[in-house]
Amino acid sequence: MKAKPVGPIPEGFKAQGGELFVGGQTASDLVASAGSTPLFVYSRELISARVRKLRDALPARIGINYAIKANPFEPVLKHMAPLVDGFDIASSGELQLAQNAGVDPARISFAGPGKRGEELEAAISAGVTLNCESSGEGERAIAIGQRLGVCPRIAIRVNPDFELKGSGMKMGGGAKPFGVDAEKVPDLAKYLINEGAEWRGLHIFTGSQALNADAIIEAQSNVLKLADELARLIGEPLPKLNMGGGFGIPYFPGDEPLELDAVGCALHANVADLPESLQDAELCLELGRYLIGEAGVYLCRVVDRKDSHGVTYLVTDGGLHHQLAASGNFGTVVRRNYPVAIASRFDAEPSEVVNVVGCLCTPLDRLADLAHLPRAEVGDLVAVFCAGAYGATASPSAFLGHGSAREILV
Ligand SMILES: *Cc1c(COP(=O)(O)O)cnc(C)c1O
Repeated sequence: MKAKPVGPIPEGFKAQGGELFVGGQTASDLVASAGSTPLFVYSRELISARVRKLRDALPARIGINYAIKANPFEPVLKHMAPLVDGFDIASSGELQLAQNAGVDPARISFAGPGKRGEELEAAISAGVTLNCESSGEGERAIAIGQRLGVCPRIAIRVNPDFELKGSGMKMGGGAKPFGVDAEKVPDLAKYLINEGAEWRGLHIFTGSQALNADAIIEAQSNVLKLADELARLIGEPLPKLNMGGGFGIPYFPGDEPLELDAVGCALHANVADLPESLQDAELCLELGRYLIGEAGVYLCRVVDRKDSHGVTYLVTDGGLHHQLAASGNFGTVVRRNYPVAIASRFDAEPSEVVNVVGCLCTPLDRLADLAHLPRAEVGDLVAVFCAGAYGATASPSAFLGHGSAREILV
């Protein structure tokens, strides 16, 4: 049987005693300390190392925000809090999670279409910056601020006329539910400032999951240019510019890691030559998966091993209800294999070609197609890598009633 390649296993995962070794523990110890499979394991060391790598590459003046939706696990938020400059939330539920983790609301910004009245109220009274997505939302925020006697802190999320090329998920360019069309931004900004809002500048997010440094560099230059044009039309220097993010991670065979140094170099040049309107602006990037995606691994156990028409199936106790993206059902066109391994035989040579599936009764529930892996038996542990972002909370854990996965930070 011809094997299909699997994605690249991220750096930092070693073997010890024959097993996958993360955060000073073997896979079976991790499962024992968490209680059972399926299990998400996130590594403090790998998260911290990623933030250090970013700080080394980026100009000191560029802040790093964490987009909580990638992984809102409370211990992760607590670990992230002293490492990053700000947190981006997309609902009042995420506001609650950030506050539970002890994050100062002054470091939080709130983007996302369809913010409900109660959400605006919670954010405004806490002192969170709203990234305003429409003129209607701006008017509602002003009215709420007046009613509460609180001056709302408001930035405008811009829907730019360009996009981040080659990004996995396009969130700018053309008609979009996100942000305010660039040409409508100056009038809305003037309105908000006149109504007494604390003006917090612009948020320009152009896309996600880009691995091509040139595409990111081009998008960032366009963001700075657009921010300058808009600031001049608004008639005030910008207090703050959230430049978006979009830094991708390699999930699939053939994916190359983003050349971070090239992006950093271009940003150094841009920051050294900022237009006047941006000279005093706080600048930041907002990143989700780049900070946490490769720092997480999903462990599940083989519960059955069977043959069907000559194909071997490893049936696990995990599946798409925790790992929708790895199953190929979260915005991918052609299903390709994530990086997978037999965690309990991590240093063994591959010896057979198998399909790894989950326990859900649907053909969609695949974790790896025709993967070349060491022979695994019932009881062995399977690892799916790149599981730190958009796993536990971006998968339909109620589907088929198997329940949520456990999560630990080590
Ligand atoms: C989802 C999202 C992010 C994070 O995206 P990643 O691909 O995880 O980096 C950042 N900003 C906004 C506005 C988002 O919607």
